[in-house]
Amino acid sequence: MSLRRTNDWRDALPSVRGRISFDAPMAPFTWFRVGGKAEVLYRPADLDDLIGFLAELPLEIPVTVIGVGSNLLVRDGGVPGVIIRLAGSFANISITDNTLTAGAGALDLTVAKTAQEEGIAGLEFLSGVPGTIGGALRMNAGAFGGEMKDVTISANALDRDGTLHLLSLADLGFSYRHSTAPEDWIFLSATLKGRFGDREDITARMDAIQTAREEAQPTRVRTGGSTFANPEGHKAWQLVDAAGCRGLSRGGAQVSEKHCNFLLNLGDATAADIEDLGDEVRRRVMQTSGIDLQWEIRRIGVRAKS
Ligand SMILES: Cc1cc2nc3c(=O)[nH]c(=O)nc-3n(C[C@H](O)[C@H](O)[C@H](O)COP(=O)(O)OP(=O)(O)OC[C@H]3O[C@@H](n4cnc5c(N)ncnc54)[C@H](O)[C@@H]3O)c2cc1C
Repeated sequence: MSLRRTNDWRDALPSVRGRISFDAPMAPFTWFRVGGKAEVLYRPADLDDLIGFLAELPLEIPVTVIGVGSNLLVRDGGVPGVIIRLAGSFANISITDNTLTAGAGALDLTVAKTAQEEGIAGLEFLSGVPGTIGGALRMNAGAFGGEMKDVTISANALDRDGTLHLLSLADLGFSYRHSTAPEDWIFLSATLKGRFGDREDITARMDAIQTAREEAQPTRVRTGGSTFANPEGHKAWQLVDAAGCRGLSRGGAQVSEKHCNFLLNLGDATAADIEDLGDEVRRRVMQTSGIDLQWEIRRIGVRAKS
């Protein structure tokens, strides 16, 4: 769908209590800090607001939900349709015994810290993932030996019509950085199970994760984390390194010297610089190892017209 089609649909948007912005720059909503505009950015006031909006929005208008954009490359030509961002009441966290229900907009780090304060062990890995619970469900996020698949009991989601669904762990179909839940469903919350543990041990594990991240990954940089999924039996970074791509650059984008499965925006990169660099890495890895690396970073929107 082209951004140049008529904007009639934007004049007849469902009325909402949340915030609607037109032609909203998306770069500030992503870790890479690049990319074009969303035709419409909608931040729902609450669940009823979101359900009403989805129920009334014509089905042909594409809807994309984002978290904090830590695994996202927004292309320079922008994103057709509506981008939805969940915050406010969508970030609530509640606890019953050793079970924690977190809204999709809650930061993984906040969930890990809440569990720590309550003496709930098993969710420490979430402190190593800089996204939200919604993004963690979509990506089956994992770090330092734990992943969503290990701790999720169930999740709530809305389909494109605004109908509510409760998904069991089996329904979520988790595998490595993947869920089989329909791509256009919007996760609302996850119920996660930990186990009672010693608060000091939990804190020590979270500190160890923080230290390991700082040693292994570039920090305080504009990146999308791991760019390519690890192919079965291989580490993506080793393949990238073996293909001679460590430090490779294109425009304002560079393959990190420190962790060569990370791409960096050095300051003035475009989304095209980053995507083209990633595709160049894929070509070189294919030449040297015969392996077809797959993007783990989600790329959305359209390329700018040249
Ligand atoms: C420095 C750095 C380190 C990282 N380390 C790790 C790591 O160790 N392990 C790991 O797994 N990941 C890691 N990541 C990647 C990223 O943090 C995870 O994939 C995270 O789960 C993405 O969450 P997000 O909220 O930022 O989602 P976004 O990047 O905003 O979106 C990612 C995908 O999730 C979808 N999505 C977001 N919210 C919802 C929702 N409510 N309902 C349905 N779909 C939704 C989006 O449509 C998109 O397809 C790292 C990223 C960075 C920048």
